[in-house]
Amino acid sequence: MAKKIYERPIIRPLNTGMMNKFGTRTEYLPVTHIDGVSVKSLIKQYGSPLFVFSERQMRENIRFAKRTFETRYPKVQFAWSYKTNYLNAICNVYHQEGSWAEVVSRFEYDKAINNGVPGDKIIFNGPDKTDEDLRVAIKNNSPIHIDHLDELYRLTDIATEMKVKPRVAIRVNMDTGIYPMWDRFGFNYETGQAWDAINKILASGKLDLVGLHTHIGTYMLTPSAYGVAAAKMADLALGIKNKYDTVIQYIDMGGGFASQNTLKGSFLKGSDIVPPISEYAEVICTALLNAGFKNTELPTLYLETGRALIDNAGFLLGSVIANKRLSDGRKATILDFGVNILFTSFWYDHKISPAQEFGMHTEDTVLYGPLCMNIDVIRENISLPPLNAGDQVVVHHTGAYTVTQSMQFIALRPAVVMIDLMGKPHVIKKKESLKDLEKNEEMPEFLKQFKLV
Ligand SMILES: *Cc1c(COP(=O)(O)O)cnc(C)c1O
Repeated sequence: MAKKIYERPIIRPLNTGMMNKFGTRTEYLPVTHIDGVSVKSLIKQYGSPLFVFSERQMRENIRFAKRTFETRYPKVQFAWSYKTNYLNAICNVYHQEGSWAEVVSRFEYDKAINNGVPGDKIIFNGPDKTDEDLRVAIKNNSPIHIDHLDELYRLTDIATEMKVKPRVAIRVNMDTGIYPMWDRFGFNYETGQAWDAINKILASGKLDLVGLHTHIGTYMLTPSAYGVAAAKMADLALGIKNKYDTVIQYIDMGGGFASQNTLKGSFLKGSDIVPPISEYAEVICTALLNAGFKNTELPTLYLETGRALIDNAGFLLGSVIANKRLSDGRKATILDFGVNILFTSFWYDHKISPAQEFGMHTEDTVLYGPLCMNIDVIRENISLPPLNAGDQVVVHHTGAYTVTQSMQFIALRPAVVMIDLMGKPHVIKKKESLKDLEKNEEMPEFLKQFKLV
């Protein structure tokens, strides 16, 4: 019999049932299934790591949000924010639920067209629209949301040349009591920039001013800010009615409602402090209804809600590669997904659950990704039961901005699966391959060969 190798004994501090600020062991329930499908079977079939989306949760979210606004205001239209998650299958779930498309670049615009969204139901936002982009949007009768004066002048020029009157809105930024203020997009309300732009549009008569747009920030925890914003938007619309006898057809309040993720540095968990969508709805609808519009001239309320409609419908499944002890005694666990595909871990403390049963002990742990890069930290500190190499974890609230912001750095990007209402998984994006990656690379003739000695 071979002699056993000597292994130095290690003393590990196991904080059994230690209280944290929420009491004991609040976060530690294993998550073994998503919508009835076992996590282990998903990983077995599609690989690890793996993004999983719940069709049921997405539909529930949008239906609930629509109902919440429609019970408070007579004319409501949602538009799906493509940049939040523009996998075509995801977009189509929201389109099937009646959402239009909201895009911030030409390639997102083309995606919406290819998904079958009619041009007049694609809201074209963003600071970077080329002349060619504007021409395409004009031809398709899409509402163009103007970001700055240079765009306004170019658009006026193009409209004159094309002999058409494009449908436009201006983006407005304003002081809502939230700082730092988002004043880099659009025209400022308080300084009069917005009113100037409106006067320029209406005096020239070359553009059809159909709406007013704002997007005051993202992950906004203060619903009252939307009340302030809606009142200022209504004030502009009523000013236009007064001076030009023109009725503004819609007020677009943008997105930014918080999802239930927990911001880094937040004392309480997102699920405890994030306002429900009804609080945002209440202040926005009340501000518009009380603003003084004639009932027949109430503007339609557009909403471009992104993260709040999808974050909790997305999960990232992953596996433990190894455990180690850091020089200061802390425990570290290396996972097979890093900040390359979970970019959001730079600002969120994502909830992470083990995917299998475990014992009583927990220990403070650093979670690292697999990249050979010091910045690749998923959580600086999380209290988790000991996980063994090969064990699996489920990261929660990964539906928004993870797939669209994921980068191909060191590792290839994983597959994305959607579980349908019957509990059947469908691949909605295949795993990236080396071939996909090198598709656009070219090798000059003189570099094709080399000899190493
Ligand atoms: C990003 C964005 C949205 C969506 O924001 P969320 O925070 O995901 O709700 C909506 N409108 C515009 C103009 C955006 O840039």
